[in-house]
Amino acid sequence: MPKEKATILIENGTVVTLDGERNIVANASVAIREDRIVDVGSTAVLGKKWEVEKTIDATGRAVLPGFINSHTHCTHNLLRGGLSQDRNLYDWLLNVLYAGLAQYSGDDAHLAAKLYCLEAIRGGVTTSVDNADFGRIDELAEHTIETYQALGIRAVYARMFYDHDPKSDSALMEALERKEPTIKHAPNFIETTDAALASISRLMRKYHRSAGGRVSVWPSPGIPMFLSADGLLRAKHLAEENEAMLSTHLA
Ligand SMILES: [Zn+2]
Repeated sequence: MPKEKATILIENGTVVTLDGERNIVANASVAIREDRIVDVGSTAVLGKKWEVEKTIDATGRAVLPGFINSHTHCTHNLLRGGLSQDRNLYDWLLNVLYAGLAQYSGDDAHLAAKLYCLEAIRGGVTTSVDNADFGRIDELAEHTIETYQALGIRAVYARMFYDHDPKSDSALMEALERKEPTIKHAPNFIETTDAALASISRLMRKYHRSAGGRVSVWPSPGIPMFLSADGLLRAKHLAEENEAMLSTHLA
């Protein structure tokens, strides 16, 4: 009987199938044609059945579906360590993170996204939801999204925004400052609701479901206390109109 043709055969691995019965198969192979899995089973059987262009020996290794990172901030990675150590949340957020992100160039955004993708792929992460703090700078958003398109990862660019300044809510800020007295108010990250939604709409028109469906764009109303009710509702409607989802920070 002539062999069937496939592209890649991963053989001799422990295959974690995540099928209906959660079967884990020892000494198993996975046959892949182009970008699809076409067969899973024992290495002895699949070796006789498939003629492939490339064989990968997975002896001593597990073969499993990619992990999904359902909430991350990919491009913070250039601000790790150093200044970020030993700070409370709002001290870090306002005095390190937003101040740092405000200095990113397009090249920095590209490098940060590329570094994230390399670390993700190395760790088995094939899909990520990137809560993008500097989405408000469209040029940086484009550099980031186009890096995801080029590198082959599956990514959601969840474009964050804030349209309400809690400085006007003095009781809240007084409570924050009592808790974290070193807070200084760094770069202004508040947009108008119209400007934020217009920018997200534009990114969605250009990139939502791009790269063969691998790359999506969602609205991400960042943190409820930095948002107006109008901003939250309009983000929800924009997501619904585009059959997208929302990402936010609740707890
Ligand atoms: Zn987050």
